[in-house]
Amino acid sequence: MIDIHSHILPDIDDGAGNIQESIEMARKAVEQGITNIIATPHYNRGIYENDKEKVLEETRKINRVLDDLNIPLKVWPGQEIRISDELMDDYDNNKIMGLNGSQYILLELPSNHVPRYTERLIYDLQMKRMTPIIAHPERNLEILKNPRLLKELIWKGAYSQITAGSITGKFGWRTKRFSKFLVHSGLTHFIASDAHNVGNRGFQIMEAQKMIEKNFGQEVVKAFNENAENVLYGMKVKELLFD
Ligand code: FE
Repeated sequence: MIDIHSHILPDIDDGAGNIQESIEMARKAVEQGITNIIATPHYNRGIYENDKEKVLEETRKINRVLDDLNIPLKVWPGQEIRISDELMDDYDNNKIMGLNGSQYILLELPSNHVPRYTERLIYDLQMKRMTPIIAHPERNLEILKNPRLLKELIWKGAYSQITAGSITGKFGWRTKRFSKFLVHSGLTHFIASDAHNVGNRGFQIMEAQKMIEKNFGQEVVKAFNENAENVLYGMKVKELLFD
């Protein structure tokens, strides 16, 4: 299984605090059936300055450590990029990158609203042949109140990724119910862990997949898994459509 969103790199954001915690996370990921994981440290100007160069370097380092310990997990480089009006400058200056260097770029919205420039930003990225993936839209308050906002971004060609813990109820019943609604509406294309540690922000991917299987069937789980694989290898992502 492939996890496209995680904070497994050590001492770089609010995820793993040191290499020991990264190793613990890696072991947990393996237990969950994850074989490949994209490290997506926060990139947020002035707060988390994790540019592409740094992420590539840290990814190389952690793979060496996991290799030495015979932990069967491969880490790939990525970023979770907080949207800002400087994002296109950062792109042009080679500070930010797609997931594993692909055309898929993971974007984080503020948690309480959808900035009006989001649509324009998606368009600008598309002009650079990039495809935005909106991280955890189910945890955005404005989208929760008005799902049409997400629908419009999806219509413009963005994809979206739901956090496994949202499906399992870790973020409350409202988020859980809304996550199911987004899956059912075909408004999401990926389930990922967004794991920060092995405690209160763990993986939960296996649990989420079981619930999706129960609610939507094995085919849907398979489609989510294939889409994660398509991202890792820079191939075309499929829409999830229901009868
Ligand atoms: Fe995240």
